[in-house]
Amino acid sequence: MTMKNLIGLIIDDDFASKHTPPYPKPSFISFEHPSRIEAILNHLERINILNNDRIVKVKPREISQDILELAHSKYHIEAIQKISNMGGGLLEEEVFLTEDTYDLAKKAIGGAIDAIEGVINNQFSQSFALIRPPGHHAFREKASGLCIFNNIANAILYLRKQLNFHQKIAIVDIDDHFGDGLARYFYDDPTVLYFSIHEFDFTEGDLGMVDELGIDEGIGKNINFPVPEGITNEDFYYCLDLLDPILKEFQPALIVVAAGFDMYYADPIGNCSLTSIAYNQFADRILKIAESVCEGRIAFILEGGYDVIGLPYCIEAVVKALLREKYDPPEFETNLSFLKDSKRREIDKVKTILKSLLNPYWDNI
Ligand SMILES: [Zn+2]
Repeated sequence: MTMKNLIGLIIDDDFASKHTPPYPKPSFISFEHPSRIEAILNHLERINILNNDRIVKVKPREISQDILELAHSKYHIEAIQKISNMGGGLLEEEVFLTEDTYDLAKKAIGGAIDAIEGVINNQFSQSFALIRPPGHHAFREKASGLCIFNNIANAILYLRKQLNFHQKIAIVDIDDHFGDGLARYFYDDPTVLYFSIHEFDFTEGDLGMVDELGIDEGIGKNINFPVPEGITNEDFYYCLDLLDPILKEFQPALIVVAAGFDMYYADPIGNCSLTSIAYNQFADRILKIAESVCEGRIAFILEGGYDVIGLPYCIEAVVKALLREKYDPPEFETNLSFLKDSKRREIDKVKTILKSLLNPYWDNI
């Protein structure tokens, strides 16, 4: 354990200025904007948290192409590099590239590695990589859903293949969307648990269904908890109740949080109704679990979260929980009575099905 419970914050001004979407609002892709990070960094400075003596600021390391190749095909890497060199472009409908995308996406992986390795090496107790573009929709062979490279998958494969770290790892994905790319990497791997709570389109159908449990050796270690749109803070806590028994039974040596904040009520892409205190409560709970199973080792890696007014408060809410300081939500969140409509009945149905599906693979579910 580190002496002072240090918290590593991986930050870099490039994330606040590069890889700017080419289209105006309200195009979906316009929201993955440098202003997300700019707003976070300004806020953290304004509340003077960066000078806290338990905060360690880390600039992402440079990584070489062979590290990228741990998670991505040469073809995909070269395609991203070439399109960036040409000045950018659009890949399908949900991925944009600019002239600086390749370099920034590579830097994001460096940041995720710093966050995770720093926790494993006891350089700090917890960490938060404030990086972009996000990663959890990216696949080995392709970019997808605003994601270029899979930051978390790449960092975990780096631990496995370069650092010979073979202990169990739990990924907890709280982004509004299902991390289809991230789940795929470890779908047959019993040593990496993937647990995702995500908004589910019950009418159109999508990946991230409750019965996607993993395959082969990995069966039972992919856990999808799809929830209806509009869930409230209380609904979210109710879903999280399932995390305690699972993480305590799995006994990971490290917890990685795919930290998306697009379940926030004002998010332009997600449709849920959380306020920033929900992320404070989440961080507090996951910290308590981590302290009981893995000496508190948690790395938060930023994924989505596109409301530039609320996002900085959500980040503050997490960092304050890690610092064990009281978090006071902003004034504008105190009177949102329209968010009180619980989805508990629908969630209960999913929870019952999920528990019965998991029961054969877990002693305590
Ligand atoms: Zn998302």
